[in-house]
Amino acid sequence: MTTASEDRLAWTRPGAFEVAKGVYRIPLPMPEDGLSAINVYAIEDGTGLTLVDGGWAVAPARRDIEAALKQLGTTPRSITRILVTHAHRDHYTLAVELRREFGTRISLGIDEKISVEGISKSGRFATQLRILRESGAEELAWKIEHDGGEPEPLTNWELPDEWLHEGQVDIGTRQLRILSTPGHTRGHVVFIDEEDKLLLAGDHVLPHITPSIGFEAYPRESPLQEFLDSLRKVRALPDLKLLPAHGPAAPSVHARVDELMAHHEARFNEIRVVMGASGWKHGYEVAQALGWTRRKKALLDMDLLNQMLAVNETVHHLRVLEEQGELEKRSDPSGVVLFQKVP
Ligand SMILES: [Zn+2]
Repeated sequence: MTTASEDRLAWTRPGAFEVAKGVYRIPLPMPEDGLSAINVYAIEDGTGLTLVDGGWAVAPARRDIEAALKQLGTTPRSITRILVTHAHRDHYTLAVELRREFGTRISLGIDEKISVEGISKSGRFATQLRILRESGAEELAWKIEHDGGEPEPLTNWELPDEWLHEGQVDIGTRQLRILSTPGHTRGHVVFIDEEDKLLLAGDHVLPHITPSIGFEAYPRESPLQEFLDSLRKVRALPDLKLLPAHGPAAPSVHARVDELMAHHEARFNEIRVVMGASGWKHGYEVAQALGWTRRKKALLDMDLLNQMLAVNETVHHLRVLEEQGELEKRSDPSGVVLFQKVP
């Protein structure tokens, strides 16, 4: 491992790290690599601790949160409430485990309701596989269905105690503003501490990676457009300190949002070049013409799940360009959706 990649993972080291007065970043391990860890944030609320995000219900995460709280002189019993940014298992499932044991109250954005209620009905990656098939990637969809790993266990998917709406949430010593930021998931919310100038960003703004878009059982039709609108929404706030769910804290939300917007703009331009050549193309074809990850890998050199994410992301870009009137689309008789540049 090089020094650079060690530095890149320095934020995953276990412990409780004060990122603002009375606010602690607690990284918890995740069972799969890729994102490496998830930060939950513990905020002193006068009676105990309010957590933002809950972690993934695996034994090492449970062990590390106990150790981190011990470092702060307390235990998980002191957690009064858990505010969850979105219903992905790395953010939600450990919260449910803690609630079972300590009665901790869980709050989640109202637009995640369909995802939590529907989790047992939706097949593994059902929507993402449908998008693959509509994109002309039937063989890839088949491979993921047949050797793509274990189905996601459905443990710890219980309803929260409270659904959150945009507005203020009073957590004792401070007020947090709840802002709805759909895109990564349809019901993603962020929490803003206006006094201490903090953005508890969940997966909406991440310092090292671009968040996946609409990776959920019931995405809306245009999650990328929603994501870009949500980026503009936080860009319109005064600049805040970024407290992300994956990666180190960073001084400026504005700086990172500008980079994310530039990334997507560059992507739209690459797709415009690919679509500039004549003819109808499906999403799989376009995804293969693009470079992936910061190393600009070929699509087919990535593992199957990353290929699936890449094709999905390409389709979301194509849909935005179509909504903007730059592309037109049609379905062929087998149901594959094709795009072409509007002449
Ligand atoms: Zn997520």
